[in-house]
Amino acid sequence: MNLRKLFEAMKLLLFDIDGTLIRSNSAGRAALTYALEQVFGTAGPIDDYKFGGKTDPRIITDLMLAAGISQKSIDAKLPTVYDVMTARGRDTFSEKHIVPCPGIPELLDCLRQRQDVVLGLVTGNIVSTAPLKLKAGGIDPTQFRIGAYGSDNMDRNALPGIAMKRASKLTGHTFNGNNTVVIGDTPADILCARSGKATAVAVASGWHAAPTLAKYKPDFLLENLTDTKAVEELLVNQAEGS
Ligand SMILES: [Mg+2]
Repeated sequence: MNLRKLFEAMKLLLFDIDGTLIRSNSAGRAALTYALEQVFGTAGPIDDYKFGGKTDPRIITDLMLAAGISQKSIDAKLPTVYDVMTARGRDTFSEKHIVPCPGIPELLDCLRQRQDVVLGLVTGNIVSTAPLKLKAGGIDPTQFRIGAYGSDNMDRNALPGIAMKRASKLTGHTFNGNNTVVIGDTPADILCARSGKATAVAVASGWHAAPTLAKYKPDFLLENLTDTKAVEELLVNQAEGS
């Protein structure tokens, strides 16, 4: 492939973390519970709260509003919660049996070698805990050249656009919905791909079964990412923006 063709064919692949790249064995939930109890004296109704697809600031805000804390106080203390969560993650994630999802190490090994692919993250995790979780799951976070995180915006739907801008700035190539793929395990990942006009690849390796994900009409739906060659072909060649 000549250089011009390679440049035209560039693809930005944005992976969700929990349930897509790794199974975190509730490591994030435990770190957040600890941080909320340290900073606000309560973790609110965290045991009944569904984390899937939500950003950390969304989760923190929902839980603390439910516990009767004012929005003003929540906003003021958010950076402290982030700091405590990060320190806790650094201390505990390695003991939490975080593992890669099936097929992920092989798929990343394969994609990392391609010059027409930029690997990135779109995750509800904050920027300082995302690499800790990945490392604990045996995945090198530095292979993801850009990312958009919960700490960038409470609204997950804003994150693909942020990631595209960062990838464009980093590489000098224009990334938009036509050459960007969002890979995730929840309906929220599919919806955020839509909001960025990107291709939505849903994978049933997390909390949601394939029939549930199918209701949200992803462009592609996979049980898992274990068929490395087929997934590579799908992500690089078939997935075109809507
Ligand atoms: Mg997820």
